[in-house]
Amino acid sequence: MQPDASRWIVVTGAGGFIGGNLVSSLRSRGHRNIRAVDTKPLQDWYQRFQGVENLSLDLNLKENCETVAKDAQEIYNLAANMGGMGFIEHNKALCMLSVLINTHMLQAAMKNGVDRYFYSSSACVYNADKQKAFEAPSLREEDAYPAMAEDGYGWEKLFSERMCRHFREDYGLRTRVARFHNAYGPWGTWYGGREKAPAAICRKVIEAKVKGRQEIEIWGSGVQTRSFMYIDDCLKGIDLIMNSDIVEPINLGSSEAVTINQLVDLAEEFAGIKLKRNYDLSAPKGVNGRNSDNTLIQKYLHWEPNTTLRVGLEKTYRWIYDQYLARERGKAGVVREASTAS
Ligand code: NAD
Repeated sequence: MQPDASRWIVVTGAGGFIGGNLVSSLRSRGHRNIRAVDTKPLQDWYQRFQGVENLSLDLNLKENCETVAKDAQEIYNLAANMGGMGFIEHNKALCMLSVLINTHMLQAAMKNGVDRYFYSSSACVYNADKQKAFEAPSLREEDAYPAMAEDGYGWEKLFSERMCRHFREDYGLRTRVARFHNAYGPWGTWYGGREKAPAAICRKVIEAKVKGRQEIEIWGSGVQTRSFMYIDDCLKGIDLIMNSDIVEPINLGSSEAVTINQLVDLAEEFAGIKLKRNYDLSAPKGVNGRNSDNTLIQKYLHWEPNTTLRVGLEKTYRWIYDQYLARERGKAGVVREASTAS
């Protein structure tokens, strides 16, 4: 699609991990008409960019969605209340309330004649019965039904996916939906309770190294399997899917399955240490096994996320290490203000 410099590219959730990196990527691709929105106060955004319209607004509210959709050409709706398993297991109602964001954003997109609308769904929509085995079953798109999604967060995603579908079918809004599988990378949440496994493991290993500890606590048995997608692949996939004719929800994830123990092995290797592992079997751990079946994305786009975990995790480890030391020294650490595209 031809960019129209007089209309906005809107990124919601831009104060968070994927949204902030998406704004950065859009800027580096030459876009200057970017409207970035997040409910957090501007000083708490992970990344902020000059030359971007940065708005701190609560998108649960319909009037705020109408403000941000005004004169918009494209909307990337990444705003949601989310976090790792510890967060989503204990905040089901809050996660489900994100339905307000997508509902009001879809209505505002319609009203303002937006050309394309991207919705970030999740692998948490998949039927829990298909994820009982530890051998990382690869989930195909049709495995979301019959529906038995992750309680709270996953049901909201599944419902919102369907709402995107019906806005497309009934009102002609061009909606595109990707089911992200565990994205990780720099400028993401790495402490505070909302961080996901790759960042949490890196932080725990770094903490042990810096403080001279010999042990690490791991949630679950360590043999749960997952796949992890590096942020650069996530951004490329968002761009390809947004500009494609793929109308049904599609997996966007790595198909390199690893156990949590293997994740720890890698982090220990980067740190140059070996730790005694204490497994907390009562901690939130999610499903036993999950991987992304990439047959469909390969068929449509002849591409799939391909950054190896070793390469992506080492970059993430180094970034968290610097953030950790900055924070220890009493500096804010995590926020980046950039005046140039990067
Ligand atoms: P994130 O928590 O870093 O970013 C989400 C942002 O949305 C936050 O900055 C938050 O403040 C903002 N937000 C929440 N409620 C809002 C509201 N009412 N109004 C405006 N902004 C609001 O999360 P992320 O990892 O960047 O995830 C982005 C999207 O991708 C989310 O929809 C998430 O559910 C989805 N997703 C992410 C992953 C992953 O592995 N990171 C996996 C599956 C799906």
